[in-house]
Amino acid sequence: MKKRALALVLSMAMAACVTACGDSSSTADTEKTSGSSSQAQSESAADSKEGESKADRETIYQVSLLQGLTLGDYNGSVSVKELKQKGDTGIGTFEGVNGELIMVDGTVYRAKSDGSIETAPDDETIPFANVTFFDSDEKQDISGVSSIADLKKLLDEKVEKLGRNQFYMVRVDGTFKKMHARSELKQEKPYKPLAEALKTDQREFSWDNIEGTVVALYCPQYMEDLNAAGWHLHFVSKDKKYGGHVLELDVDKAELKIDCTQGFNMQLPDTEMFTTLDLTKDQSEDIKKVETKD
Ligand SMILES: [Zn+2]
Repeated sequence: MKKRALALVLSMAMAACVTACGDSSSTADTEKTSGSSSQAQSESAADSKEGESKADRETIYQVSLLQGLTLGDYNGSVSVKELKQKGDTGIGTFEGVNGELIMVDGTVYRAKSDGSIETAPDDETIPFANVTFFDSDEKQDISGVSSIADLKKLLDEKVEKLGRNQFYMVRVDGTFKKMHARSELKQEKPYKPLAEALKTDQREFSWDNIEGTVVALYCPQYMEDLNAAGWHLHFVSKDKKYGGHVLELDVDKAELKIDCTQGFNMQLPDTEMFTTLDLTKDQSEDIKKVETKD
């Protein structure tokens, strides 16, 4: 058995949804860079990287549970290098909640406690994250979406149409009149529950007229014991200088892209702390506190 990560992998593959969600290759908006399918197959055979098969591209990969993180299990169990084999786009955090993780175009960035961005080293470990290989199923130009609530409303309408029981990874690339984000100071052991740590160690930042990318994850309602149901947004600026967990925003003009995903794969940590956590405790109030602004 691997030392850091238990071989146990919980997987579920939902039945293919032919009506709305899913097969990116069947939609007009296909941005895959691989050529013909035979070419793509030979490329993936030649390239031994894990996670490049079609099935894996349509999977949300999750490290641990958000509920482990909120209880104070900030021990990393999967490395940045390993995470990059499971997707090219996503969100999460680092060992010791040392900043907010945002993955865009295959690079893992850390939004530090001062709101600045650095590229995360391959050997750093991750206690919680969600990533996927991003294939746009649908896109739309948006403008004048003046709050996070309005953006979530717009995204909810998309989800209603495409199916609320799948997972979605979303990219919003554009210009933002305002971006208000947070990150946090690295925690030292013994770790406190996240809501408690953030009370003193959360830092907030605002930027005006900033270009960049929001990466947003949608989890269906039935995921509320494993993650946060609904939307979770992170931001990185186009120049890769600023970013964080999005608390509020004002979209000037942007392109919104949605990747509908039907597979879910969760990697549980093989750490002493994780195996002894009391995950029967209802943490919905704490999760609301750590996800949103007051
Ligand atoms: Zn976050």
